[in-house]
Amino acid sequence: MENNQKIPGEKIAQIEEYLPGDNTYEDNDVIRATTIGDINLDSVERLASVNRQKQITVPKVGDIIIGVVEANLPSMIAIMIKFVNGKKVNSDLECVCVTRHIRKKNIALAKDVVKAEIISHINGTIHASIDSQDLGVLFTKCRKCFGTVVKMRDAVKCKDCGWIDDRKLSSDFGKSEFLNQD
Ligand SMILES: [Zn+2]
Repeated sequence: MENNQKIPGEKIAQIEEYLPGDNTYEDNDVIRATTIGDINLDSVERLASVNRQKQITVPKVGDIIIGVVEANLPSMIAIMIKFVNGKKVNSDLECVCVTRHIRKKNIALAKDVVKAEIISHINGTIHASIDSQDLGVLFTKCRKCFGTVVKMRDAVKCKDCGWIDDRKLSSDFGKSEFLNQD
């Protein structure tokens, strides 16, 4: 298939040549796309439409996700979702996790791998929680020297420089297959 993917608002045909079909709208004498997808010009029906791209999988409430911390803010973390219920996803979806009630200084650092549960979708934002025992940080590094850390009760200790730091650790910390990945 040729590269005929359109984005919303992009012109797909002239109104004198085609009628607006699925996922299009008329704008003066031009037919434009309302969604991302491939153009479909039906010359028999004289219909210009856009085939909506396959929907990306949005995790549902209750799904368990594993992702990488993108941003570490005072009261929340933003997580780029990489796995949903153990299945790898390539959808570049982010969820946010409110952490202000968790009494830890460093709940998770940017680039940490965390496990979270989806708790709600509000205004297009996916909200997750890391409160449960099995949720939280699966992989982290030393904040001082980026060395490898080991678990010490509910904190982590750097094998290289000895720095001890807190995290909201998952009970799966140290057991994860992610430890062997880059
Ligand atoms: Zn260190």
